[in-house]
Amino acid sequence: MKAWPNQLFIDGKWVDGSAGRTWDVMNPATGKVLAAVAIAEAEDVDRAVLAARRAFDEGPWPRLDALVRGRMLYQLAQKIRERLDDFAMTDTLNVGKPIRDTRGFDVPCAADLFESYAGLPDKIAGKCYGTLPDNVTMQFREPMGVIAAIVPWNFPLTNLAIKLAPILACGNTVVLKPSEVSPLSALMVAELAQEVGFPEGVINVIHGTGAETGTPLIRHRGIDKITFTGRHQTGVQMLEAAKIGMKGVMLELGGKTPSLVFPDAPIENVVNGVITGIFFNLGQVCVAGSRLLVHESQHADLLERIVAKVKSLRQGDPTDPNIQLGCLANPQHLATVKRYVDVAKSEGARCVLTGPVPTTTENCFFPPTIFDGVKAPMTIAREEVFGPVLSVLTYRDEAEAVRIANDCDFGLMANIWSTDGTRALRVARQLKAGRITINGGGALRPNVPVFGYKLSGIGAELGYEETVHEYTSSKAVIYSLSTEKSPWPE
Ligand code: NAD
Repeated sequence: MKAWPNQLFIDGKWVDGSAGRTWDVMNPATGKVLAAVAIAEAEDVDRAVLAARRAFDEGPWPRLDALVRGRMLYQLAQKIRERLDDFAMTDTLNVGKPIRDTRGFDVPCAADLFESYAGLPDKIAGKCYGTLPDNVTMQFREPMGVIAAIVPWNFPLTNLAIKLAPILACGNTVVLKPSEVSPLSALMVAELAQEVGFPEGVINVIHGTGAETGTPLIRHRGIDKITFTGRHQTGVQMLEAAKIGMKGVMLELGGKTPSLVFPDAPIENVVNGVITGIFFNLGQVCVAGSRLLVHESQHADLLERIVAKVKSLRQGDPTDPNIQLGCLANPQHLATVKRYVDVAKSEGARCVLTGPVPTTTENCFFPPTIFDGVKAPMTIAREEVFGPVLSVLTYRDEAEAVRIANDCDFGLMANIWSTDGTRALRVARQLKAGRITINGGGALRPNVPVFGYKLSGIGAELGYEETVHEYTSSKAVIYSLSTEKSPWPE
């Protein structure tokens, strides 16, 4: 694999940060430095926004034939596929994800997103209103402007593609800030965009912490819209910053997904589904199924099966294709997960499965952990741990299951397990979440929008119609066919 780019990508050029400072990007499995990447200070942020502004106001990108725009997105998708191994190894080394997941999910999913949105530009259409006989009113959807896209570290490449593909398809320019924890795959995408020939300033990638780089970016007056994925506490700061210049905002935030298992559910499917739901990517997933709601008659049996199966999972070196569980993405996050486990114990939840917890920050391996006897008011049932920690709660009847599931500030996703279709749909209609799965599934699809209820977000990510709504501006053009003078001043 060739060396990772380690500079900022601004206005089509690779540059160092103005203060010459760098940030050590780590491998959380070993505690070793992978690369020293340039930090963007406020001055660099300003340069990136101005470059994107110029590219939008004066450059060819928003004015290109829509088919040409789509073709470039398609080429980017193909280049990502060609470098599957490099991207997979990069994110595996950078955030401790098992290589089988980065190869099998993260990279193909990112390429799919660019490929899928390559088909959107020439489908963006306006409307025509013909309510008056002597008047034609047209509504155009036009590229919106300069978008600030800020993403987290849990799926570095996929999160980036979820933002960039729709933004670019709609003809906007972008300043992307990946997480300071995981900038490497974003910089690789910038390299590929350069090879494809995206015009200068259309894609800018700046790197640095939220405070140093993110804050000047979201407060910049040259930005038209902020699109953010991350914690809801950070989302609140986005809303504050959006007031400056009345920017648009789209927020994709945290979750606390309940999995409601009904007694008629196919038990072996439930076991696999629940385990995948919470332990895939070591629970560092916004839709992680962190709350298992099981009927009290089925509780002992289901818990026993889940514990037995989780014990058979292999955790270890993320680059080993035979392991299913890697490590947490960074030492700060390891400390957060540990803290939540301690709080759960102190509040009376019963730990029925865990393993050796690391005592140093040199590697971030955290074992799958299961708490039984969890009650809805406990912290572990309410706050997002974003780690491999499953809370098991029991219910007595359907109404109580729904009540417990909804008794939470988040509403990103919910899972239902039942072979009674009427019951499953009845419950789905009552749950307060933007995405509901019934008997499994739920993988990200480029054409299906993601909404968050409650603290889980504002606006929609993905979905073609929703994308056009989020990333284009609407303009009405009213054309009078009348030859008569306006009667009013007479
Ligand atoms: P985070 O909010 O700490 O950081 C996310 C990004 O925001 C990073 O790039 C960070 O540098 C930046 N940032 C932080 N403070 C900022 C500020 N003041 N101004 C500008 N930028 C700032 O989140 P995280 O810990 O990186 O990611 C985990 C969170 O992301 C979880 O809550 C998870 O649920 C959420 N997430 C949500 C979705 C979704 O689709 N809803 C998907 C993935 C992750």
